Amino acid sequence: MPRMPIALRACFGVALCLAACTAKAEWLAQTRSMMGTEIRVELWAENAERGSAAQQAVFDEVHRLDLMMNPMNPDSELSRINREAAQEPVVTTPEIVEVVQRALYYSDLSGGAFDITFASAGRLYDYRGHVKPSADALVQAAEKIDYHHLRLDPEAGSIAFDQPGMAIDLGGIAKGYAVDRGIAILRAAGITSAVVAAGGDSRVLGNLGDRPRVIGIRHPRKDGEYAALIPLQDTAISTSGDYERYFEEDGVRYHHIINPRTGGSAGGVQSASVIAPHGIDSDAMSTTVFVLGVEKGLAFINARPGVEAIIVDSEGRLHYSDGLLQE
Ligand code: AMP
Ligand code: MG
Repeated sequence: MPRMPIALRACFGVALCLAACTAKAEWLAQTRSMMGTEIRVELWAENAERGSAAQQAVFDEVHRLDLMMNPMNPDSELSRINREAAQEPVVTTPEIVEVVQRALYYSDLSGGAFDITFASAGRLYDYRGHVKPSADALVQAAEKIDYHHLRLDPEAGSIAFDQPGMAIDLGGIAKGYAVDRGIAILRAAGITSAVVAAGGDSRVLGNLGDRPRVIGIRHPRKDGEYAALIPLQDTAISTSGDYERYFEEDGVRYHHIINPRTGGSAGGVQSASVIAPHGIDSDAMSTTVFVLGVEKGLAFINARPGVEAIIVDSEGRLHYSDGLLQE
C-alpha cells in the first residue's frame, strides 16, 4: 500500500474491498486496432475486474506479436529475418519458429498453394496506394517464391533463405495464431465463455449459456450482410476474402491473396471460410482453400477429419464441405 495517513489507509482499504467484493458478473467486449485489423475480445466474467484484467492481457499479447511479426515495421523481428536470412541463418523467437513450422506444414500439404515466401512478389503491391508491379518485375519476383528455399532449423531456432531476393510474410497465419494465444490466456484466467477475433479469424471458447454462439460469414459483396450464419462452440473459424485489401484496374480486382505460381491474385473465389479446432490451422487453411479454388479446396478439406469449409465462388454461389452437408 502507498504511504498515506492511517485514517486514509483505512478508507482506502474499505474502498479496495468494495471494488473487489462488489465486482459483478458481466459480459465484457472491447475492440482495438492491431495487426492491421480489428482485434475483439468478448468474454463472460464472473468477476468483472478479473475479466477486465484478462481482456487486457490478451490485447497486450496481440500487441507483442504484432510488434514481432509485422512485415511493414522495419524494427520487427520479421523484418530483421527478411533483411539478414539470405546472408546467414537468423536465430529468432520461439513464436516465429512455431508459426513458420506450421506454415511449412501447410505448404507441403497443399502442394505450395500456401507459401509464406509469396511475399517475394507480394511485397511489390500496395493495395491502398493502387500500386502493382510491372509484368517483368512480377515474373522476376515470382521466381523467388518457393518455400523449399526457406530453411527452418527448429532446434537451433533459426531461419535462413538459400537464395537472395526472398521474403516471408506471416499475414495468412499469424492472426489465427494470435487468437489461439488469446484464448489460452483467457482459459488460464479461468474464463469459460469467450470469443477472440482478429479481423476474419475468430476462436470461440465455450458457448452462450445453453446455446452455441452464432458466427456470421460476411457477404463478400454486400457490406453489413452475411453469406451464412454458423453455430459454433469451442472451435476456430477463419475467412479469407478478396474484399479485405484490393483495388480494381481495367475491370481486374488486384487483391491480397496471391497465387504462388504466378505472383498475381488468386482467382475463382470471393471468400473461403474454414472451421478447425485451432486458429493457426483455420487461418492457414482459409488462405490455402482460397488459392486452391472450389474443387481442389473442397477435396483438401474433405480429406481432413474435423475440418469444414464454406466457399463463395466468383459467381457468389455457396459451396459446403461434406461434413456441413451431412448435419
Ligand atoms: P487471410 O485473410 O488469412 O487469407 O490472409 C491474407 C494474407 O495472407 C495476405 O494479406 C498475405 O499477407 C498472406 N498471403 C497471401 N497469399 C498467400 C499465400 N499464397 N500463402 C500464404 N500467405 C499468403
Ligand atoms: Mg488465413
